[in-house]
Amino acid sequence: MQAPSLGGVSVPRGSGETTIRLRQGSSLNDFADKIDANPASLVTVLFHLGEMATATQSLDEATFGVLGEELGYKIEMVSAEEEDRELLGAFDIDLDAELEAEGDEDLQPRPPVVTVMGHVDHGKTKLLDAIRRTDVVAGEAGGITQHIGAYQIRAEHEGVERAITFIDTPGHEAFTAMRARGAQVTDIAILVVAADDGVMPQTIEALNHAQAAGVPIVVAVNKVDKESANPAKIRQQLTEYNLVAEEYGGDTMFVDVSAKNRMGIDSLLEAVLLTADAALDLRANPDKDARGVAIEANLDRGRGAVATVLVQSGTLHVGDAIVAGTAHGRVRAMFDEHGESVTAAEPARPVQVLGLSSVPSAGDTFLVAPDERTARQIAEKREAAERAALLAKRRKRISLEDFTKALEQGKVETLNLVIKGDVSGAVEALEDALLKIDVGDEVSLNVIHRGVGAVTQNDVNLATVDSAVIIGFNVKFGERVEELADREGVEVKFYSVIYQAIEDVEAALKGMLKPEFEEVQLGTAEIRQVFRSSKFGNIAGSIIRSGTIRRNSKARVLRGGKVIGDNLTIDSLRREKDDVTEVREGFECGIGLGSYNDITEGDIIETFEMREKPRN
Ligand code: GDP
Repeated sequence: MQAPSLGGVSVPRGSGETTIRLRQGSSLNDFADKIDANPASLVTVLFHLGEMATATQSLDEATFGVLGEELGYKIEMVSAEEEDRELLGAFDIDLDAELEAEGDEDLQPRPPVVTVMGHVDHGKTKLLDAIRRTDVVAGEAGGITQHIGAYQIRAEHEGVERAITFIDTPGHEAFTAMRARGAQVTDIAILVVAADDGVMPQTIEALNHAQAAGVPIVVAVNKVDKESANPAKIRQQLTEYNLVAEEYGGDTMFVDVSAKNRMGIDSLLEAVLLTADAALDLRANPDKDARGVAIEANLDRGRGAVATVLVQSGTLHVGDAIVAGTAHGRVRAMFDEHGESVTAAEPARPVQVLGLSSVPSAGDTFLVAPDERTARQIAEKREAAERAALLAKRRKRISLEDFTKALEQGKVETLNLVIKGDVSGAVEALEDALLKIDVGDEVSLNVIHRGVGAVTQNDVNLATVDSAVIIGFNVKFGERVEELADREGVEVKFYSVIYQAIEDVEAALKGMLKPEFEEVQLGTAEIRQVFRSSKFGNIAGSIIRSGTIRRNSKARVLRGGKVIGDNLTIDSLRREKDDVTEVREGFECGIGLGSYNDITEGDIIETFEMREKPRN
């Protein structure tokens, strides 16, 4: 149905119930595509709704919501995973349906995939090495194993030779990174704990990750060759974390090993197989196009993109057309961990693949496509989606000014805040004061998180999810957090006077933000040594780390990311014996902060000025 709309342009209208699904980061072009409209007319309609946007610009959910409502469409934003599923669906590939359709008769047992985790120096690398050397097959062939990111060994279990696959990148970083990308590769985790050291922070972190992922754990109590080893203590300690040894009536297998002397390795492998048989149903269909995950990849000068992939179902053949993340190509050659060429790789088999157009990321899923052209198209569509998603993120999620505008247009009614301060009293006081701001029932304020200390990555992540503004009171960014906030488009505002924070938030809530002053950093200096002078007070012997420090400029002192002295002035500035007006980056100088004397080595002196920010 075509009907005249705002601005006199003609746009196909929905019934009010028609749902349009848009991926995050979509533009008016994408929307126009879905409803078969002219993008230019959508620009016009949106303009009449009070919003300026180009046809190619990524818009947020709220904007699409307003536009959709006007035109009679319900808008549903889809996540990256859902979108990828839909993308594959367009090529007639439905991985979920494929798995569901597999009957018992299609499924064959497959080897378990094991990740070795534990605290640093407890012997993960050594253990992976010892396990590799027990391989009955490699032993016979005398093959030298190469590092390709994963390897498979064969071990005897109850008279039968069984394969086990090990992910050869020890440490739970790799494990979590893959899980964060939605790839669950690991079936069983070996938790290595040194018997002479005991349960350590990363031990707990590792077991938390494994338990969160629902992955069964086998504990390798390592370094039992050492005199100071106390394997019983490890069992005792781990009961606190719900890992109770079988001999204590639990169901976790603990195996004493010495990775160094290669003792107990056979029992460990046995325990892995017993745990797999008892707790898991490890089966996959080998008779279909391969699906799996990229474990590791790099660019080789001679061979191009080299990726180690783990086949999870189906069988991968030389000559197959594949897509891994946004990389695509035809499998030119495959190699196993002994550097031997292979022509087919079945489930749980890691292989190095040559022939991809670019280097995939660890954790990217791969799949075999019907032909090379389809593989390329899937990869290109994914790349376009990734780019759009990135662009959407770069746009500011919400700022206090945006909020004022959005409020005028009736698009939002809640301002979400994250509050960070130097002491808990200040945070509470600020939160109380902010929550007391009364601007009627239409708008409200919601503090989604509060805390003491510098603004962290976690704060920014939280703000990202809930489109919140971060308020920092007498604190600064933690290390590398500013870049993250920038990238994610999260607004972070710093204050050192409570009422200024309240004023800004109140103004935003009332939809009338006054001209803003913005703090512009001029220079920072690190205090190297403090000279005490009875006449001048403490003098900070400093080195200028960035910018320029000028006499008489405003200053504050930071210790460990926290503001400890504010409203200060650079009272005196000296190079050697001479008074100077400014000192540039890289030079040393003596700085006096007037009567302020609370300075010590390692403190940072920061100077700044307030500039009025042009309003747009
Ligand atoms: P990772 O950081 O967990 O990978 O630990 P490594 O495998 O690098 O081992 C750390 C140190 O412990 C190295 O010096 C190893 O030689 C030593 N180590 C590992 N396993 C054993 C063992 O079973 N017995 C003894 N005595 N030392 C071991």
